[in-house]
Amino acid sequence: MNKYNWNYPTNMWVGENRIDDIAEACKNLSITKPLFVTDKGLAKSEIVKKTLSVLNNNNVSVELYFDVVGNPTGTNVTEGANFYNENNCNGVIAFGGGSALDVGKAIAFMSAQTLPLWDFEDIGDNWIKASSEKIAPIIAVPTTAGTGSETGRASVILNEDTGVKNIIFHPKFLPSIVILDPILTLSLPPKITAATGMDALAHNLEAYCAPGYHPMADGIALEGMRLINDWLLEAVKNGSNIQARQNMLTAASMGSTAFQKGLGAIHSLSHPVNALNNLHHGLSNAIFMPYVITFNKDSIELKIIKICDYLELEDRSFDGFVNWVLELRKKLDIPHKLSDEIDEKDFDIDRLSEMALADPSTGGNPKKLTKDDMKKMYEHSMTGELFK
Ligand code: NAD
Repeated sequence: MNKYNWNYPTNMWVGENRIDDIAEACKNLSITKPLFVTDKGLAKSEIVKKTLSVLNNNNVSVELYFDVVGNPTGTNVTEGANFYNENNCNGVIAFGGGSALDVGKAIAFMSAQTLPLWDFEDIGDNWIKASSEKIAPIIAVPTTAGTGSETGRASVILNEDTGVKNIIFHPKFLPSIVILDPILTLSLPPKITAATGMDALAHNLEAYCAPGYHPMADGIALEGMRLINDWLLEAVKNGSNIQARQNMLTAASMGSTAFQKGLGAIHSLSHPVNALNNLHHGLSNAIFMPYVITFNKDSIELKIIKICDYLELEDRSFDGFVNWVLELRKKLDIPHKLSDEIDEKDFDIDRLSEMALADPSTGGNPKKLTKDDMKKMYEHSMTGELFK
């Protein structure tokens, strides 16, 4: 496989074994002492060991923060930023799935701030309150193919006091160099490959269906969905297929590039169950997808038919697309009902619906939404009944 350097939406070093260039990436950004941010599981993995040895062999002295948890927390960011400053680091290598990437990006940001993290929630122009000059440079290395955090300008962090997953935004969250190396995703188990791949689909799909004028995002989203249609199943069934792994990494980065146009109710419904029920984000997006599509039908039917055409689906109708999603989920072993993952007694629908309505993704939904709409979508996803 060839090596590629893309400069859009940031510098992206793409191809098999590009991780071997990580010391050069540090050099390019004048990072002499990076904080390497990852999670506990990955910290013990061969891919982390190999990456650290590339850095050591090139005399880059690295500090390690590896306490990142799934659905990562404000504590992760505060601890990491303190550790960064105590050790006089001068850049961050965020290495892992969306959880590690989001924390790494937020550490780079918070290492230079005096205001608390939550003051930078993605509402209005909050981000302009930040001190921008000293935000540390970030190298992002995704090891899952889903969130696209590596090409995004936000992190999703759980506030443990409020129980809410907040989106924290600043333009400088966008990493300066991204390494997309398919070899790093070969160890990803089928279940996580499937759930994260559906996360990438949710990003591309919601971005495409979000209202507003953004033909660049629309073009990227369509091609992202095509890559997923062509390669997700193969990546799950045959995890050692490097071409499938590369295409899924690319589709994931495209999803988050496209969703600067907006997201929608799939994400609004997901963030609360990720926070309160600790459900994996990609999995919850996959579960909610057909309920939200059918709920939004009147507003998105024509766009959905355009997607069918671009993906060259056999049945190029709204129902054909819904069936494609349902079939794909079935082949990926993704449950149809939320009740397969969350017990009724742990399901606080009133609180969840309120949180979903307040989620920043709600503004991008093609149909204007009320709390009652959120409730209905949650109810349908629990019973498994699509909207007619
Ligand atoms: P994750 O980062 O939580 O990782 C899931 C599991 O996969 C972990 O146990 C991890 O150790 C393991 N893993 C990662 N790479 C592996 C590999 N190569 N081999 C074996 N195991 C591996 O999951 P995720 O889905 O990548 O990220 C989810 C998080 O990202 C959520 O918190 C979500 O809210 C956030 N997110 C952020 C954005 C954004 O724009 N910033 C977008 C979507 C989602």
